[in-house]
Amino acid sequence: MENDILMRTWLDDLNLSHPLLIAGPCSAETEEQVLKIAHELKDSDASFFRAGIWKPRTRPGGFEGVGAIGLKWLQRAKAETGLPMAVEVANANHVQLALEHDIDVLWIGARTTVNPFAVQEIADALQNTDKIVLVKNPVNPDLALWIGAVERLHNAGIKKLGVIHRGFSTYEKTKYRNIPEWQLAIELQNRFPDLPLICDPSHIAGKRDMIQDVSQKALDLNYDGLIIETHIDPDNAWSDAAQQVTPNALKQICKDLKVRKETD
Ligand code: PEP
Ligand code: MN
Repeated sequence: MENDILMRTWLDDLNLSHPLLIAGPCSAETEEQVLKIAHELKDSDASFFRAGIWKPRTRPGGFEGVGAIGLKWLQRAKAETGLPMAVEVANANHVQLALEHDIDVLWIGARTTVNPFAVQEIADALQNTDKIVLVKNPVNPDLALWIGAVERLHNAGIKKLGVIHRGFSTYEKTKYRNIPEWQLAIELQNRFPDLPLICDPSHIAGKRDMIQDVSQKALDLNYDGLIIETHIDPDNAWSDAAQQVTPNALKQICKDLKVRKETD
């Protein structure tokens, strides 16, 4: 995998003049919510719209996602706005449904990356796909486990790969929801310079007032992009309410971010 330059061609092909941006709600809640957010993001820097429809919750009893019906809403949002769609998949059934609904980007969540059986099942279901597949870091700070998941996908013939750094669980009380441990992602970046590295400031921070700083830190470290949870009514979001920003706030964050020049 070390020198496979194909891994970043999907990103280069987007020809962006700014870092890659993926934006959208933590969870799809209703068709109206999905459409409203997608329309507001149409004229933003976002290249992809994200929404979780199968939500891995730490404890039972919470909102576990709207399920497959959400794929229809995403299809409609894509048809109306032109924004390509990204969803989390955690098993072969999710993959099959996402492919049937022509989802453009599939990502593996932090609670799935920890499980090689689950990752292998997803890799087998995706075999040779030309979709973009992004791998979030595992919840625990284990670089080999993160790389192993990418290798399983690579071995399954998937060429358009990338990784998402969303921070790591800790028992310590810190200002972060998930501590970044930046050095881990930097080690990955150094070992696999052709693997696009995307930061998820939303899950690292856990609070919207830290999104700007965490995003800036990632860009200062030469990350390729950001995935930022964006909701029309963050306070009343059905999941991750404290960390989501409005589409307008997202646009302001993007305006204020300083992007490193090639010559820096
Ligand atoms: C999410 O992206 O909403 C999510 C569940 O993230 P993670 O897998 O990073 O916890
Ligand atoms: Mn979330």
